[in-house]
Amino acid sequence: YIAKRGKGGYRLFEPAMHEGVLARLELRTDLQRAIATDQLELHYQPIVHLADGSVSGFEALLRWHHPERGMVSPTEFIPIAEETGLVVPIGRWVLREGCRHARRLVTASQGAAPRMSINLSLKQIQHSDIVADVRDALAESGLAPERLVLEITESVLMDDTDLAVGRLRDLKALGVGLALDDFGTGYSSLSYLSRFPVDILKMDRSFLSEGSSPDVRSLATAVVGLGATLGLEVVAEGIELAEQWDALHDLGCGLGQGFLFARPMDAEASLAFLARTPSRLASAP
Ligand code: C2E
Ligand code: MG
Ligand code: MG
Ligand code: MG
Repeated sequence: YIAKRGKGGYRLFEPAMHEGVLARLELRTDLQRAIATDQLELHYQPIVHLADGSVSGFEALLRWHHPERGMVSPTEFIPIAEETGLVVPIGRWVLREGCRHARRLVTASQGAAPRMSINLSLKQIQHSDIVADVRDALAESGLAPERLVLEITESVLMDDTDLAVGRLRDLKALGVGLALDDFGTGYSSLSYLSRFPVDILKMDRSFLSEGSSPDVRSLATAVVGLGATLGLEVVAEGIELAEQWDALHDLGCGLGQGFLFARPMDAEASLAFLARTPSRLASAP
């Protein structure tokens, strides 16, 4: 493999590592072209009310259609985008595109207007343009700020600087909601929650992966209880089984998201989903 590549300088590396390094370097260059050449696309996964399965909103999830590699997972390319700073222009595109589509969903909706959740990385929060980017995306799309939710992970809270706190307060001041993503996987500390103006806890799907093991269940119970105490909405991520839906609803968890309800889907499919879903899931618990 090394000889074929003709990059003698890399011989110090194990072949597998060498391959990984090269792949990352290639992805880095390719990612720079991805926006301009229209290779990025947003998919949308419904977030539903666990009481009746009706749609509360959607989460925008980025997809990269690489010309040779096919679909590249965001878990692979978002870290590269963060390292290179490309996450700032890419994130700006996500905000504009996500808000634009959210406005279409709101207009098409027959019932309560759906919300749109958009993921932000720490790098974007640290970047000076974030508040203007969100404001511009809202203004351009005509989306009401209360229909937008920005999802951040604990890494943002751990960057417990006045800068991060200030940025989140400024974002809140626009009227948008803030969700703490993958809650429970990091070094969550209750003190973070009081310092940052969070509205929604997204309970990580690892809380469900053990199914109904008593430990996991008591952790899920604790997160739902924490949400109730602090007056925060709780979204359970990664619901795949009807039993998980039942159990979470019994615990008092209000919202959920997962393959049981729907996988992330393209923009047109999300409009179709919204049009048919209330009746389709009406018979569920
Ligand atoms: P996340 O924000 O926690 O998004 C939820 C992930 O869980 C998505 O993976 C979704 O497809 C997956 N998921 C949803 N329901 C289920 C389920 O029932 N079972 C299983 N096994 N998985 C489920 P995805 O789309 O691959 O995204 C991975 C991560 O990449 C996201 O995690 C988020 O951290 C990041 N990401 C995606 N889009 C963006 C973006 O536009 N900007 C930034 N900064 N990060 C993004
Ligand atoms: Mg998320
Ligand atoms: Mg999540
Ligand atoms: Mg997650």
